[in-house]
Amino acid sequence: MSRSKHFETEVIHAGYDSKDHLGSLSTPIFQTSTFTFDSAEQGERRFAGDEEGYIYSRLGNPTVKALEQRVAVLEGAEMGLAFGSGMAAVSAVLVALTKAGDHILCSQGLYGCTFGLLSMMKEKYAISSDFSLMETEEELKSKIQPNTTCIYIETPINPTMKLIDLELVSRVAKSYGIPVVVDNTFSSPYLQRPIEYGCDVVIHSATKYLCGHGDVIGGLVVGKEAFMKQVAVTTQKDIGGVMAPFDAWLLLRGLKTLPVRMERHCHNAMMMSERLNAHPIVKSVYYPGDVTHEDYALMVTQMKAGGGVLAFELEGTKEDAQKMMNALKMIKIAVSLGDAESLIQHPATMTHTVVPEQKRREMGITDQLIRLSVGLEAWEDIWQDLEQALSFIGSKTSKEIPIEK
Ligand SMILES: *Cc1c(COP(=O)(O)O)cnc(C)c1O
Repeated sequence: MSRSKHFETEVIHAGYDSKDHLGSLSTPIFQTSTFTFDSAEQGERRFAGDEEGYIYSRLGNPTVKALEQRVAVLEGAEMGLAFGSGMAAVSAVLVALTKAGDHILCSQGLYGCTFGLLSMMKEKYAISSDFSLMETEEELKSKIQPNTTCIYIETPINPTMKLIDLELVSRVAKSYGIPVVVDNTFSSPYLQRPIEYGCDVVIHSATKYLCGHGDVIGGLVVGKEAFMKQVAVTTQKDIGGVMAPFDAWLLLRGLKTLPVRMERHCHNAMMMSERLNAHPIVKSVYYPGDVTHEDYALMVTQMKAGGGVLAFELEGTKEDAQKMMNALKMIKIAVSLGDAESLIQHPATMTHTVVPEQKRREMGITDQLIRLSVGLEAWEDIWQDLEQALSFIGSKTSKEIPIEK
């Protein structure tokens, strides 16, 4: 599905027409498990696929379908499918693309549970996986094996915000005929649309920016119609991790404000990045919107802005990091991201505990690294909270804090 109007308009209108629903401005919630047939013959036609129409909500539901179509339009994909969680979406795609003996090539950092899923697939189904920096064509090619059936990437990579060049990866993958799957959770389609760079499948934990309000667990997958239909009748139907109609309704509601929310998230994150960078207790800041970030140039080519998540490393120990977090008054200690509330977490002991220590080190996740999902509050208040908490772990020197731009 391609966009016929601007992104800011499609987040509100795509996939739904009130004329089809008695003029209801808001998408009705079809809170039903099953759909009745007019006759036994109609039931037969529906099951045979000879007639369009709903059968049973695990196979399709009108509220969920409106969301699936909207996200497909926003990502510039042919078709979308919604799942009960981001991980239900990730597992449905990975299981659909692999069989015993296959190999998955991944970006250097992965969401913790995706890493866990790959370990399980290796142990139970002999589906191996490897990591690639994906910085150069040569290195990427050297990691591709004859049995590689999927390239799986996240960009920005959580939590160090390293970027992967989507165009480079999809170009190399195409020459081998390997599909590229991108977990686009951290960017949202407002900031980055991997299909425009030749990638094949895009996954979202809708729990994060798509929802934006911290009240839904959900997942989305979009891609080409042939592949998506295959997922619909195999891993989605038979493993069954589908989305509930009410959750789809909440997501349709949240999506309407995605562009305005993302603008504020990005602006606030930029403000925090600048200030953290200048703070004497902060050793390094990882934010791709910052001109000093190693992948800033790549950010400019494939993203609209640097996003709303950043990580920073303190001078000090794990205890210092925890002390700083405990001293916060407004910012909440919680995993997840993309919500109105600013959320802070400690990757080494929270989101990335499943990753073995050695691998964590390779990924740059030290014990002093803290991840911040910058919320929609006034940036001055977010900074005030961070600054007072940072003051607990050391005395301030004369390093200058930039003033408001
Ligand atoms: C949260 C997250 C997931 C998992 O999504 P759930 O909705 O929690 O199942 C997958 N990938 C990324 C990048 C995430 O941030």
